[in-house]
Amino acid sequence: MPSLLVHCCCVHCSAYSLKYWRQQGFQVTAFWYNPNIHPFAEHQLRLEAIKTFLNNTGIPLVMSPCYDIDRYFKSTRGSESRCESCYQMRLEAAATCAQDNGYDGFTSSLLISPQQQHDRLTRIGIEVADRHKVRFYYADLRKRYSDSRALTKSQTLYRQEYCGCLHSRHQQDGGQTAN
Ligand code: SF4
Repeated sequence: MPSLLVHCCCVHCSAYSLKYWRQQGFQVTAFWYNPNIHPFAEHQLRLEAIKTFLNNTGIPLVMSPCYDIDRYFKSTRGSESRCESCYQMRLEAAATCAQDNGYDGFTSSLLISPQQQHDRLTRIGIEVADRHKVRFYYADLRKRYSDSRALTKSQTLYRQEYCGCLHSRHQQDGGQTAN
């Protein structure tokens, strides 16, 4: 059975994404690397939510050893598109982990979110896969976004109110910020 590393951005996007790739015949492993989530307490709340969810599914979790917030700020500083740099940083980490540990490929739960920049994500996924000599598995799951939410609805899992970074939090609170 081919093995697939699924970068998970949050439990609510990951629930259906993991199910989908399992249904496609992959042995899936969840991968957590999201230093874009601020502050650290928020990062921990989202991490605990996915850990709780995964405990009930039998899907293993691979985690980056550190929070790596410096890398987020270095990656996005001066960038023309903060979100693009943020995607690049996270997909690069997933591709590196897949390559180093012999997975057949990687993907990301970000592909299910209508709130993310799908075309940019796809382009970056293909680019980093090429560089790391692993395959990027693509599926446009945006029409299943509500199905994913439905899968976690009955569970008392933490639900975030903003994308992740302080900029997105500020925007959610009514401030103006460009991505
Ligand atoms: S809004 Fe912030 S956390 Fe979300 S993708 Fe863009 S840079 Fe990353």
